[in-house]
Amino acid sequence: MDSLHQLLRQPANVVIVTHKNPDGDALGSSLALAAVLTKLRHTVKVVLPNDFPPLFNFLPGIDNAIIGEMNPTEAVEAFENAEIIFCLDFNSLDRIDRFGLDVMASKATKVLIDHHLDPEPFADHIISKTTASSTAELIYDFLVDMKLDTYIDVQIAEAIYTGILMDTGSFRYGTNERVFEVAAALKRLGMDDYLLQIRLFNSMTEKQLKLLGHCLANRMDLISEYQTGIIWLDRNDYKEWAIGRGDTEGIVNYILMVRNMKMAVFISEQQNVTKLSFRSKGNINVQEICSKYFNGGGHRNASGGQMKASVQDTLAKVREIIPLTMNSYQLQHDQ
Ligand code: 5GP
Ligand code: MN
Repeated sequence: MDSLHQLLRQPANVVIVTHKNPDGDALGSSLALAAVLTKLRHTVKVVLPNDFPPLFNFLPGIDNAIIGEMNPTEAVEAFENAEIIFCLDFNSLDRIDRFGLDVMASKATKVLIDHHLDPEPFADHIISKTTASSTAELIYDFLVDMKLDTYIDVQIAEAIYTGILMDTGSFRYGTNERVFEVAAALKRLGMDDYLLQIRLFNSMTEKQLKLLGHCLANRMDLISEYQTGIIWLDRNDYKEWAIGRGDTEGIVNYILMVRNMKMAVFISEQQNVTKLSFRSKGNINVQEICSKYFNGGGHRNASGGQMKASVQDTLAKVREIIPLTMNSYQLQHDQ
């Protein structure tokens, strides 16, 4: 912390980069840190490997973020000029696609702040706490430790709270004592939690709600023997429903609302790759499954991965590994 404190004493060119397909935590933590460092007269650029869901339009400074996929030259230039690079909410450089090479090549001091399992040691300073609810929680603590929390205004508090809310499903999982304290501190700063609930969870479009209905009615398979459910969407669904970024967010969680379901898999056939999202309850470790079979990772109860295969082949692979994996657990029915 002392050396980080030193590092941030003089205004510097700072880049904050977060993972591909940025979610509420990636965006909230990055934009909160960016806003504080900007107040300290650093020149801050936030780089997102690709675009963000429109749901997060309200976050402070999001319009100034560089979307790497759309403006690669600007993104590369930002990395080249950076003196400090913050890597937030990801644990390995392949999570930022081609920009991983830019981070690796850069002479900047690199700071990783993250809560995923098994962080790769690519940074000079690593703040990794896998018991943290979210990277946003870690950003709050980082600001406190750096004595910068006095710079947190209402908008920054909203950004931090957004990260916490999205990664804990509104305090339903992944919580700890500290995150409730952080929430209280943010509320004391005037953050309107009720407003954020409405913005984040009661803001679906009609299309999104109907797509959810389609998934539950026509694309869901619950395998009760293995207490696992699968939902899939193929390329045709993407076309027919004009599915955009963020439209499928959270659909995987519905499976775990079914009594006795312990693992949920969401499979979506995207342009070059089929993406998988895993969620689980209790001791079922989906991080292990994602890193072993699907070139991915994340957390014990929420992970993701991908396959260079069609949705049908991916489904077959998932069906194959479900018995292998679930048989190693003592499956119990919910109490
Ligand atoms: P989601 O299923 O919402 O995309 O992601 C769930 C969690 O797994 C997130 O914490 C996310 O960062 C992580 N994750 C998602 N996809 C991947 C992936 O392809 N590789 C790795 N290492 N982590 C992923
Ligand atoms: Mn996160």
